[in-house]
Amino acid sequence: MKQEQIDDLRGNPVPEQGLFIGGSRRSAARGGYRAVVSPLDGTTLTTLAEGDTSDVDDAVSSARTAFKKGGWSKAAPAERKKIMHRIADLIDRNALELAVLGVRDNGTEISMALKAEPGSAANTFRYYAELVDKLYGEIAPTPNSVLGLVHHEPVGVVGVIVPWNFPLMIGAWKIAPALAAGNSVVVKPAEVASLSLLRLAELCSEAGLPDGVLNVVTGRGSVVGEAMGLHPDIDVLAFTGSGGVGRRLLEYSARSNLKRVYLELGGKSPNVVFADAPNLDQAAKTAAYGIFRNSGQVCVAGSRLLVERSIHKEFAERVAAIAAQIKVGDPLDLTTEAGAVASEVQLHKNLEHVARAQAQGAELRTGGNRILEDTGGYFMAPTVFDGVTPDMTLFQEEVFGPVLAITPFEDEADAVRIANSTAYGLASGVWTANLSRAHRMVRAIRAGIVHVNTYGGSDITVPLGGVGQSGNGHDKSRHAMDKFQDLKTAWVQL
Ligand code: NAD
Repeated sequence: MKQEQIDDLRGNPVPEQGLFIGGSRRSAARGGYRAVVSPLDGTTLTTLAEGDTSDVDDAVSSARTAFKKGGWSKAAPAERKKIMHRIADLIDRNALELAVLGVRDNGTEISMALKAEPGSAANTFRYYAELVDKLYGEIAPTPNSVLGLVHHEPVGVVGVIVPWNFPLMIGAWKIAPALAAGNSVVVKPAEVASLSLLRLAELCSEAGLPDGVLNVVTGRGSVVGEAMGLHPDIDVLAFTGSGGVGRRLLEYSARSNLKRVYLELGGKSPNVVFADAPNLDQAAKTAAYGIFRNSGQVCVAGSRLLVERSIHKEFAERVAAIAAQIKVGDPLDLTTEAGAVASEVQLHKNLEHVARAQAQGAELRTGGNRILEDTGGYFMAPTVFDGVTPDMTLFQEEVFGPVLAITPFEDEADAVRIANSTAYGLASGVWTANLSRAHRMVRAIRAGIVHVNTYGGSDITVPLGGVGQSGNGHDKSRHAMDKFQDLKTAWVQL
């Protein structure tokens, strides 16, 4: 990718953005639009339709009608596969446009956005396209007088609610397996990152996805999201976002139709460095980049760095020095290593966390402040706190910003105890050359993923999900299909 290609697109006007329902764009029923503010410079990028309950009703009804018609839900797996491959190809063909649009909307640095957004979304569609015609039902080991068949059926209408950090990637992790299983889908993107998902819906339509099978309703979480949570005709809700909203969705389900609710929530992921790590330089660099890319707006970010006491002081200094040199700035510059914070609100939340950590006695090693204010954008310096103890808010609560908390530990047992001392259990890392210890730690750490001698690696073949208050269910891999299918038994007397 060349910088000039990006620069050609950076100032393109973005037309008014309608909802995507029944295969086409339209205004919200009440006609409202709101300004989309770009975190790059605080200017208005475009206007976005402000949906409400009646738009959710329309989208769900359109999804249900499409499901009943069967153009997608009853299509031969090979046909679904063909269209999903076409979607992946169209994402690839429009990758630069999608990435730049997304960056202007949410501020992720373009080097990461290109891979993580269109790159990952295309790959995800391809993965589930390939899976569609390789899934078999089961014949149960019943007595000979009976034939027991287990069918996998689509659930019907799937609601998808996603956050602002990686809308295309996280959206695709849910939309692609839901579609692969034959469902219809209604998506609600985050207020501050809706544009690329609206464009994805258009590309799906262009690829031949029948009208109504994929719908996107933009608007407020407390209006559109709540209406989806309470909707009596949504069968499954797949959510990524904060624990607070996750709890509400469970309540909405209880108050409405008991829809199944899958939650991918936040984390406070421990990255544990033992003195015998094979390469401490590599560990320090990976630890820093494992929290500061995308300005810390990564659910699996290694936001707690636990370091063995004997190397703690020197290692913390190394990490702080790397943090101070990370290139924060213009998200559309290919050399930028950390882009903007997605919104002014989030920037202020991050700064509040910094002030609280200082007040509670954590030692600020670098950063802690807003930077590049003259650009009008929302940028924050990579921030490192040392001496963070389990009783501090910074140890327990997710910041979802570029703030790293360092805590020393004494030995393996202490490391496990400290690592498992939060309500979360999303990601983690362990650095050690001792193979037995590495495997012991993998078993002992309460998390959905344990990285060993690296941090942050993953691909579509492995599941991503949390334990504890990081959620339930899994995105990615063939296991994601389980969320979007029901099992039906045929018990046939012979
Ligand atoms: P958020 O919970 O504020 O919002 C997520 C989505 O929920 C948005 O679309 C929002 O509009 C919607 N929403 C808000 N209020 C709602 C309501 N009352 N009813 C229904 N929907 C509502 O989260 P965010 O700030 O957009 O994203 C950051 C959070 O997402 C962090 O906690 C982060 O860790 C988490 N996250 C988790 C993963 C994962 O895979 N586990 C991945 C990315 C982000």
